[in-house]
Amino acid sequence: MNVTLKQVAQVIQAEWQPTFPDEFIDHISIDSRSLQNNSTTLFFALTGANHDAHVYINDLYKKGVVNFVVQAIPTNFTGAANFLVVENTLKALQSFTVYYRSLFSFPVIGITGSNGKTIVKEWLNYLMNTEYNIIRSPKSYNSQVGVPLSVLASNENHDLGIFEAGISLPNEMAVLEQMILPTIGVLTHLGDAHKEGFTSFEQKVDEKLLLFKQVEALILEYNPKVLERLDKSIKTFTWSTTNPAADVLIKHSAADLYHVITRFTRFDLIIKLQDEQAIANVCTCVATLLFFNYDVKLIQDRIKTLYPIELRLQVKDGLNGCTVIDDTYNSDYQSLKIALDFLDQHKSKEKKTVILSDIFQSGFQPEVVYKKVGKLLQSNAINRIIGIGPKISTYLKDLPNFSGFASTADFLLQFSANSFQNETILIKGARSFKFDEIVVLLEQQTHETVLEINLNAVTHNLNFYKSLLQPQTKIMVMVKAFGYGAGSFEIAKELQFHQVDYLGVAYADEGAELRRAGITIPIIVMNPEPGTYATLLAYQLEPEIYSLRSLHGFIDFVKAKNVSSYPIHLKLDTGMHRLGFEAEQLDELVAVLKNNNWVKVASIFSHLSSSDVPAYKDFTLQQIQKFDAWSQQVIDALQINPIRHILNTSGIFNYSAYQYNMVRLGIGLYGVGNDEQENKQLQNVGTLKTIILQIRNVNAGESIGYSRRYQVTRPKKVATIPIGYADGIPRAWGNEKGYVLIQGKKATILGSICMDAMMVDVTDIVCNEGDEVLIFGQKLPVTELAKQLNTIPYEILTSISQRVKRIFYKE
Ligand SMILES: *Cc1c(COP(=O)(O)O)cnc(C)c1O
Repeated sequence: MNVTLKQVAQVIQAEWQPTFPDEFIDHISIDSRSLQNNSTTLFFALTGANHDAHVYINDLYKKGVVNFVVQAIPTNFTGAANFLVVENTLKALQSFTVYYRSLFSFPVIGITGSNGKTIVKEWLNYLMNTEYNIIRSPKSYNSQVGVPLSVLASNENHDLGIFEAGISLPNEMAVLEQMILPTIGVLTHLGDAHKEGFTSFEQKVDEKLLLFKQVEALILEYNPKVLERLDKSIKTFTWSTTNPAADVLIKHSAADLYHVITRFTRFDLIIKLQDEQAIANVCTCVATLLFFNYDVKLIQDRIKTLYPIELRLQVKDGLNGCTVIDDTYNSDYQSLKIALDFLDQHKSKEKKTVILSDIFQSGFQPEVVYKKVGKLLQSNAINRIIGIGPKISTYLKDLPNFSGFASTADFLLQFSANSFQNETILIKGARSFKFDEIVVLLEQQTHETVLEINLNAVTHNLNFYKSLLQPQTKIMVMVKAFGYGAGSFEIAKELQFHQVDYLGVAYADEGAELRRAGITIPIIVMNPEPGTYATLLAYQLEPEIYSLRSLHGFIDFVKAKNVSSYPIHLKLDTGMHRLGFEAEQLDELVAVLKNNNWVKVASIFSHLSSSDVPAYKDFTLQQIQKFDAWSQQVIDALQINPIRHILNTSGIFNYSAYQYNMVRLGIGLYGVGNDEQENKQLQNVGTLKTIILQIRNVNAGESIGYSRRYQVTRPKKVATIPIGYADGIPRAWGNEKGYVLIQGKKATILGSICMDAMMVDVTDIVCNEGDEVLIFGQKLPVTELAKQLNTIPYEILTSISQRVKRIFYKE
């Protein structure tokens, strides 16, 4: 990018008093947490329902950023910077993108649809990047903000753009169309209309088709219901697996063999993928290649090598205390940048190592690419860089901390597991480098049973609860009990990244663990045992104080250590009757705290016992009323101004009027609400799954499992799966009470659950040994299990044993 600030100001019609009018901009940023080239960055301070990036301006200025697009200049700003003032910063970002797009005239493929956008984009990039210098959307950057960031990365060296556009509401497509301005359209699969906020299939189609208003041609599946809604002036190029009316007919012949028939040619094609959705995406790619006049031989060769794409960055436990971040399917500058940001957010060990393959970046000379890559690695303070590939090992060899290998095989020959100790290792390489072989060596031994944690869903759920709150209300998130079973450190890192205000844990050692892993935000310990006061101080953990005894004990401790104003959090018992001060103790509490400089009341709070039970609304309101009065009494008597908080997850959902200055979010973050309407708004976070170990037929008259609990009365096909009560599956769930999902179908648990295994009924399910088994997840919510078992989701989630491996991922 090479534009002047003056140009930008004109395009976005900003008001400004130029401090440095001739400034050149070579980078646009909207995220205060990930910066590069600070002095030539233009920062757009976006605002949303739950965030306002204007609050980061002072920090950014300290880091050297001097150019800002804002809705108002922060009143407390004192430095010398350029402020371009506009009415709406998102609109400004979008109009600048429209302008920037107009500077380029290369062909641009615009992709939309309900499913498959990102896969098709990544595949087209893989299939075409030998012939073209492609700029494409990183990951699935397809939103109102993602599209600008994608398009703004274009430069004069590119000769093909591939951008995806995603919408969830009516009226969003028009501006995406202006920014992408596709010359060739690609429409992928259209799914269920209601899921995306549209009232009908027709409304959704019409909205999506708006992307193609000005295209020279539109590539899509032959579907009369879509074609009839299309403006007749738009030229189409259609494919079908059945209908000969399509321009390209791709007929399944046998196994992985397909016949392709067009008006001009016929040829065979091998497609190694199986599921229907993947085949449809391959067909879209084949049609696109034909449209671009690719040679049949090239199409055959490349389609044969298409592979399923892992769109997720995964975090896994590694050997010798290492953490492994697995990103082994592509390697280009943009995705490296995203992966390095991810590495920084999720590092559990201070030492950062990157194992990186040659970079496939079209549009630049290798000298330029590797110079940029080297700078990026250095600005991310990577402690150790291992470059694998002929190019990277040559071009980066002079970087400090660098070791180079010509090939993956060379690296593996010299590999020694012990040379990796207590570091966070990002493994990022193009598919052809087969870095999965490196991941396997560095990963801890895996079991077949895993609990996958979707960090995007965590973010979504956090934002959902934020949307129910005033923007200034603080959020504490409870990560006690190992983050409700999801993994406390990883969740805490994600929350720290999203700048929540407090974390809550049950015990001091949980807090200490988080501090050692690099969590710096305030942490409250709900049950600070006297024996752990030293730990509290050593790790700056703030205790809940719930009785005069605990208050005196803690004051004595800090006094002895000669520490003053140590933050404490007072808990009032307004009806839960678990822990907390009662009304008649408040005078004494005030007396002890008055003129006491050893501790400082950071917050006063209480806990609702029945915020999820509509029948106890009156009781809940009474609790709130007591809290209001009692906390006010303490505040008035001490003349202090602490944070007040009483709402847990269901409290936020049902009683948001009483949010005071902070709320304490727990189970909802993990994707489980206590209300059906609430659950509809949440995304599933945890997926517990395993595989089928063995399948057998059992005849009538025999029995299954311990104590012959299940008596077979008619022939059964039975699958054994490696998960049992030692993994946290309640034994009460056996004997036909519970079920798991195999191939999307219910498989009832037969007989008693064993320590490490259970047997399920697959008589009516077509399945094989090795197939995946879902215990709970999106398709079988944990709330459903809880209902069957007559318990609550909290218990199921927190019972999953620590031997079940957690895998964290982000899309
Ligand atoms: C666990 C806990 C919460 C969170 O409760 P959820 O129902 O999971 O939202 C809030 N406050 C306190 C004091 C807690 O112990």
